[in-house]
Amino acid sequence: MTLTVVKDATCTFCGCVCDDIELHADGDRIVKAKNACSLGDAWFKHHTAERLFPDAIIDGAPATLDDAVEAAAGFLHRANMPLVYGLSNVTCEAQREAVALAETIGAVVDSHTSL
Ligand code: SF4
Repeated sequence: MTLTVVKDATCTFCGCVCDDIELHADGDRIVKAKNACSLGDAWFKHHTAERLFPDAIIDGAPATLDDAVEAAAGFLHRANMPLVYGLSNVTCEAQREAVALAETIGAVVDSHTSL
């Protein structure tokens, strides 16, 4: 076991952006997230440097990004009450684009923190 320790890491999970997290990694996997709350602890421990998922998924099947964008546009176009949901772990620029999209299509915006 080769342990790597990173001090003053930032957690971007919930939006509080705690920046005093001490991460302990064994290879590609984080095994300890000192100072993180239970949400941040779970978030860090379930992330690895491994690429676990394809770029896009449609109905559970791997898809190209272009096909996924087209499918999403179709879903949103047909929706009676569109919802733009999530937005954790994304950049400010991505959030800005998501809000602009929501305004364009008359959608409601919500984040995972409403849970
Ligand atoms: S999930 Fe917890 S550790 Fe992460 S930013 Fe939010 S409060 Fe901080």
